Amino acid sequence: ARTIQLVARPVGAPKPSDFRIASLPLPDPAAGEVLLQMLWLSLDPYMRGRMSEARSYAAPTALGDAPPSEAVARVLQSNDPGLTAGDVVLVHDVWRDHAVRKASDCQRLDPAIGPVQAALGVLGMPGLTAYAGLKHIGKPQPGETLVVGAATGAVGALVGQIAKLAGARVVGVAGGPEKCRHATEELGFDACLDRHVPDLGARLAAACPDGIDVYFELTGGDILHAALPLLNPFARVPVCGTIASYNATTPPPGPDQLPALMRLILTRSLTVRGFIVSEFAADRPEFLATMSNWLSTGKVRSREDVAHGLDDMVSAFIGMLEGRNFGKTLVKLAD
Ligand code: NDP
Repeated sequence: ARTIQLVARPVGAPKPSDFRIASLPLPDPAAGEVLLQMLWLSLDPYMRGRMSEARSYAAPTALGDAPPSEAVARVLQSNDPGLTAGDVVLVHDVWRDHAVRKASDCQRLDPAIGPVQAALGVLGMPGLTAYAGLKHIGKPQPGETLVVGAATGAVGALVGQIAKLAGARVVGVAGGPEKCRHATEELGFDACLDRHVPDLGARLAAACPDGIDVYFELTGGDILHAALPLLNPFARVPVCGTIASYNATTPPPGPDQLPALMRLILTRSLTVRGFIVSEFAADRPEFLATMSNWLSTGKVRSREDVAHGLDDMVSAFIGMLEGRNFGKTLVKLAD
């Protein structure tokens, strides 16, 4: 199998030289195992965290190992009665094009339901993240205002669309005019601001005349700074990601703002609640039923940004962390 190995821990933004492509022999599938051909690999921001040694909610990728990835794969050969050659499955794997895995690690997908790669995006982990983060923490109500950054990305695009379906007013922040146009014209956001244009704080205040009731945190950084002063009493802040700092090597300059933040949480009775999507695994059946319905009735749209082949995977990953992706980032390896 061809695989991509992490060979150096990235300092700041990952570089191509932090990775290498290698070929490794695969064993024959033993009893209970299957040989898989990866069709689609997912690229997600959490992978950057696994490349560092800092303590987190999951162990880091060891040097010389391949980073993790969820994958949609075709069964080429099966030694298990539960799967047949030709079946398409979802599996937590690594950056490689073939694998021998236990059949019990693989979850069969129904290609009749729609494009199988949706299991990595709108009908998969990012979709559940948006759905459950809003259901359990954000709780947008009719007439309330929700703000989300990375607004056209895998999670943000769904956060905004689900909040619209709940009756909220939705203001996105995204990188560049094309993404902002997509958010308002295709995704139905009420407004979307370009994070690369100066004075985000004043522009966000103008776009949120009634303040902010839900700030769905995906980015940290400038967007967080712009949103904080606008939070209404009893606002909810699902803390889902802080991508603006994933490549950071030093703390941000300036005075310590923690005391002011704690005072804001206190005086505005804020709910600031972090979560990892796995906490809400029990919501998966409900999420799948609801989201499939929204997709088939056109109430939710999803956009994919597809790189082709393992040779393009590293640059697609580096690009996603910089905002060069436009939609859910995927790597297509085979038809
Ligand atoms: P996206 O598809 O949104 O891709 C990442 C986006 O982040 C980029 O396109 C870019 O969008 C934005 N971005 C990059 N750098 C910055 C910056 N400095 N400031 C603001 N925005 C920036 O990724 P996902 O939807 O997969 O993930 C979004 C967030 O959700 C991440 O923080 C991720 O870690 C988190 N997450 C958390 C989960 C959990 O369980 N808690 C599960 C899944 C995701 P643009 O250029 O348009 O601003």
